[in-house]
Amino acid sequence: MSPFSAFNDFTSNLPWQDKMMPVLFIGHGSPMNGIQDNEFSSRWKKMAQEIPIPKAVLVVSAHWLSHGTRITAMNFPQTIHDFGGFPQELFEVQYPAPGSPAIAAETKKLVKMASIEEDHDWGLDHGTWTVVRHMYPEANIPVLQLSIDRNKGPKYHFELAKELLDLRKKGVLIIGSGNMVHNLGMLAWDKIDEPEFGYDWALEINERFIKHISEGDFDPLINFGSLGAEGRLAIPTPEHYLPLLYTLALKKEEEQVSFFNDRAVAGSLTMTSVKIG
Ligand code: ZN
Repeated sequence: MSPFSAFNDFTSNLPWQDKMMPVLFIGHGSPMNGIQDNEFSSRWKKMAQEIPIPKAVLVVSAHWLSHGTRITAMNFPQTIHDFGGFPQELFEVQYPAPGSPAIAAETKKLVKMASIEEDHDWGLDHGTWTVVRHMYPEANIPVLQLSIDRNKGPKYHFELAKELLDLRKKGVLIIGSGNMVHNLGMLAWDKIDEPEFGYDWALEINERFIKHISEGDFDPLINFGSLGAEGRLAIPTPEHYLPLLYTLALKKEEEQVSFFNDRAVAGSLTMTSVKIG
């Protein structure tokens, strides 16, 4: 019997699991990763094979900012092609994973510090499907998205994320999808096809991110405004960074942290990703 069974109640839709699901932060990078078999997407695929099969996937994507916090609550979320200037092949991708109104309702109930709105308009944006289609190509696992409230600061997001912990105990894979270093204005387009190239400041702040995360020293990461010049270059706008805070907030004291896809691309972007648990 599951050690969590004693706490089960009849309002939950998902049974408690013996073991908590890991939680991930994934650097998603270019939308082209959605259709390319490269070192990043291969690692996503392998990650899915290394962890238990989830009951559902809940993604906090850099590409869904909203007023208030929303959760996709439709049975069949649409595939959103929220980018421009890419090949037609990318626009033709459909990722027909089901949604889960029940898990949306359960998540809404779980979170006390915000009144989460059940959303029927969004779907799966490219922060989600470019990654998840490599992990679960059969599209047979429900996928939901939780939006980022654009009016709130980092501390708020960190605290809200903590309230999602029970989902991990019920077999839901939570993924923060963004990029720790994400400065598109400074991208070195002439280096875009090189396998690895990072500006000094990008490599330096990447090392600091890794150090703080490894040591469980999250305060400087939450107060990222005080990370100095490198921090400002890495995080010119917060949307690709905030999903990291959702992931870190879900770490239990004793859990292991590991990194993957620790690469800089085109100077001012890092793919560095985190697995907790
Ligand atoms: Zn993005």
